[in-house]
Amino acid sequence: MIKRVGVIGGGQLAWMMAGAADKLGVELMVQTPSHDDPAVSIAADVVLAAIDDATATAQLATQCDVITFENEFVDLEALALLANQGVCFRPSLEALKPLLDKYHQRCYLRDLGLPTPQFVALEEVRSQESGVRSQPSFSFPVVLKTRRHGYDGQGTFIVKNAQELDSTLKRLRGCALLLEEFVPFERELAAIAARSTTGEVVVYPIVETQQEKQVCRRVFAPADVSAAIAAEVEAIAHTLLNSLNVVGVFGIECFLTADGKVLVNEIAPRTHNSGHFTLDACETSQFEQQLRAVCGLPLGSPAMHVLGAVMVNLLGYEDSHSDYLEKRQQLAAMPHAHVYWYGKAESRLGRKLGHATVLLEEQSGQKVASAIEAIWYGS
Ligand code: ADP
Repeated sequence: MIKRVGVIGGGQLAWMMAGAADKLGVELMVQTPSHDDPAVSIAADVVLAAIDDATATAQLATQCDVITFENEFVDLEALALLANQGVCFRPSLEALKPLLDKYHQRCYLRDLGLPTPQFVALEEVRSQESGVRSQPSFSFPVVLKTRRHGYDGQGTFIVKNAQELDSTLKRLRGCALLLEEFVPFERELAAIAARSTTGEVVVYPIVETQQEKQVCRRVFAPADVSAAIAAEVEAIAHTLLNSLNVVGVFGIECFLTADGKVLVNEIAPRTHNSGHFTLDACETSQFEQQLRAVCGLPLGSPAMHVLGAVMVNLLGYEDSHSDYLEKRQQLAAMPHAHVYWYGKAESRLGRKLGHATVLLEEQSGQKVASAIEAIWYGS
């Protein structure tokens, strides 16, 4: 029986595993850079070190039976030495390998025959030879992305014209870059899916996510899409998790175009912001599911036990040390509301400080989201 799980990363995703860990009788050991990180308060033990410090991960490994990830910005090559010495990573390093670089991730999807936006590595455009061979035809706007370490829209730039492209490229000098077509999507969808050690796959109800300035603002569950579209996204999730031989939870973000096409935007090899609603709206949360998968337990049901739910991120809108207690109390007083506060020491613009989920009966999800945002941001 696996009883001690190491988690690389001590942010809110690790923090939200606490309830499930208690329920399953599992201890969490966390590797994270700062004492102030959210999961430090819930961990049985902490290795204070950078996410990509594999020496620290070797130390973590001495304290636990299996290691999983809440943050994928790791040094895979260095971790491979530990895997060779018998350290068990779930998901495996092989499953992570095609995903950590956004260009490799796009290539993996393309090679699997899954639909993605047209893309090219900037190095290919610059090199005459391969540029001619493989450059798709792009017109502005285009999207420029740093190939590694992008999150919450950091490292994603929507570029409207040649002049902007020039200045963005100057700013990003030295970074490996991915260039892709801008998809004028009608909506963004996401799937949270889990795969067990025995190859069982479950997919949560498909959700709609809404981003502002490339950062997730709100999530509606389930997405108001046809059964055929939902089935298509589910099928993509099955194909991906099976082909990567994943053990654990993955988040898969997609674009839905006006003519009903689904394109995969991004795969996150861990629990995901678009799955926070599962804590309150589903029979098994994504965090319990991740622990179940990595501990070799059978997966739980991903079904919702309510008609619908809306999740709104509480993003920082100023530099502050406030704990925003009054606003949180107002949010918690909304009917069927569940408020999560990650306990970060400082608020900064756009930082994810917490989230609120409201379970829906008859209400409109959009209206509830607006009511939450009016309390949080002030109207
Ligand atoms: P991150 O890794 O920072 O989450 P993403 O690639 O997911 O970056 O991009 C963040 C958001 O930017 C997406 O949710 C979407 O709203 C927008 N975006 C990203 N790529 C494209 C694209 N090719 N076309 C249109 N919008 C895009």
